[in-house]
Amino acid sequence: MECIFCTIVEGAIPNYTVYEDEYSLAFLDIHPCVEGHTVVIPKQHGAHVFDFGANTLAHVMKGVQVTMSRLQDILKPDGFSVGWNHGKSAGQSVPHLHIHIIPRWGIDGGGSMHSIVRTTTQRPVADIAQLFS
Ligand code: AMP
Ligand code: ZN
Repeated sequence: MECIFCTIVEGAIPNYTVYEDEYSLAFLDIHPCVEGHTVVIPKQHGAHVFDFGANTLAHVMKGVQVTMSRLQDILKPDGFSVGWNHGKSAGQSVPHLHIHIIPRWGIDGGGSMHSIVRTTTQRPVADIAQLFS
């Protein structure tokens, strides 16, 4: 199945570009949460962060920084929420890695990362830490 974001990179579907370089393309989300909602994608296809090498990821992170700088200069938000939905259970609908940059204003009524999910039954943090030791 054709990847819609690869089709955008190829230029077959138009986009509202915010920033572009050799590795990354940043464009306005077609269904924005807020004015200036932008997604940054690697030009190379891959669904998940695990599909990319360190060099590509470093360049994409640079693309995120420059895109945020452009949004800051032009829209002057108070802050940003930045991140990606990784996997269907996290809400990923397009299987091509994309970092959402959501400009934030104090009056927007939104929450922080902590508002995405909060389970009431969890193992103690110390028990989870044990799994990594
Ligand atoms: P996600 O749910 O994290 O996979 O996000 C996919 C995002 O891509 C959604 O916010 C969509 O609105 C956005 N999107 C899908 N198709 C396009 C498109 N052709 N141009 C711009 N944004 C798109
Ligand atoms: Zn793709």
